[in-house]
Amino acid sequence: MTDRAATPRFVPWPDSISRPLVSPIQPAAVYVAESPDMLDAQYEGRTSGYTYAREGHPNADVLARQIDALEGVEGGWICGSGMAAISAVLLGCLKSGDHVIGGDQLYGRTLRLMTDELPRFGIETSLGDTTDADAVAQALRPNTKMMVIEVVSNPTIRLADVVALAALTKERGITLVVDNTFTTPRSFRPADWGADIVVHSVTKILAGHSDATLGYFAARDPDLQTALIARSVTMGLTPSAFDCWLAERGLMSFPLRFDRSEQNAERLATALAEMPGVRRVLYPTRQDHPDHNRTGALLGQRGGHMLSFEIEGGRAAANRLTKAGATIAFAPTLGDIGTTLSHPASSSHRGLSAEGREKLGISEGFFRVSVGVEDPDALIAEFAHAVAASQSEV
Ligand code: PLP
Repeated sequence: MTDRAATPRFVPWPDSISRPLVSPIQPAAVYVAESPDMLDAQYEGRTSGYTYAREGHPNADVLARQIDALEGVEGGWICGSGMAAISAVLLGCLKSGDHVIGGDQLYGRTLRLMTDELPRFGIETSLGDTTDADAVAQALRPNTKMMVIEVVSNPTIRLADVVALAALTKERGITLVVDNTFTTPRSFRPADWGADIVVHSVTKILAGHSDATLGYFAARDPDLQTALIARSVTMGLTPSAFDCWLAERGLMSFPLRFDRSEQNAERLATALAEMPGVRRVLYPTRQDHPDHNRTGALLGQRGGHMLSFEIEGGRAAANRLTKAGATIAFAPTLGDIGTTLSHPASSSHRGLSAEGREKLGISEGFFRVSVGVEDPDALIAEFAHAVAASQSEV
């Protein structure tokens, strides 16, 4: 005979009149319903409640509401990575015969999705220079349904002509998608500038600790958002509850981290520009930035936490720089609490031909810096040491 007492059984969660200060983690993959009638009520939206984690779970919803508040939108949805969110939007909106145009300096995997994957589904794609709205207008086709842009390009820190592009998409009935990962809602809120859909890699500075991989999308049209969520659920782009919980914790300090990183970035940009061997520094608030005239209007004079610079001496000098700057993590990511350095020619842009990189101004001596919250004097001293070492044999 089976001993029921020896069988682990479900025990209801203890009641508490007080609530936990921190959101609980809810890793359940599935939820237990009382009856088929109750399930009907849930699926038909007559009552709220979760059924199966792929279709939504509380940790994702809590995080989505927090990012909604930062972005000034409603009903955003969390996915398992930034690329999952971008895939949900592109595959969820476009169909065979449509044309989509993207910025030629979008994040590398977004470019790959557009140029390598979408054409397999009969979707035409093309790329344009989003700093030049006239050139983008020339590239539109009668079947253009979507435009995908980033406000600040990666890694050359160019500023898109958002005002002209938003007017163009509105006039032509084209859906404008803005990836706001680089800029963040602290310096730019796409919905306020006419974007139809905002996306994020939450993995970056919103979560901020390089320990959670997540994405977010929000369409301003509620019907479109409902359709995109349904497609995202069907495609299984669901985030982990634990990652959402980590990101929620990270998000609490996002404004502080962003502001401090930005102050450090501004100081580092100034210091780098004076270091021997540094050819150029790209940072939006610098007078010599090619799109400086747009910084005030678009970013409210906020330069953000990202900068790029180029040194003399090509690949050999670049190798010396990363080896000498041992405390600066050489890692192809951004938005971590600490400073990270990346070398686009050997990582994000290695897929481009040498001519393609040259056209974008990405040489072997080109670095991108995601500035963290460290002591700024120590950070500048470490860069000074690394740059000096890089030039030792030039
Ligand atoms: N968008 C931008 C601007 C990014 O930099 C990245 C990743 O680096 C992504 C999207 C993709 O995000 P994830 O790595 O979370 O998939």
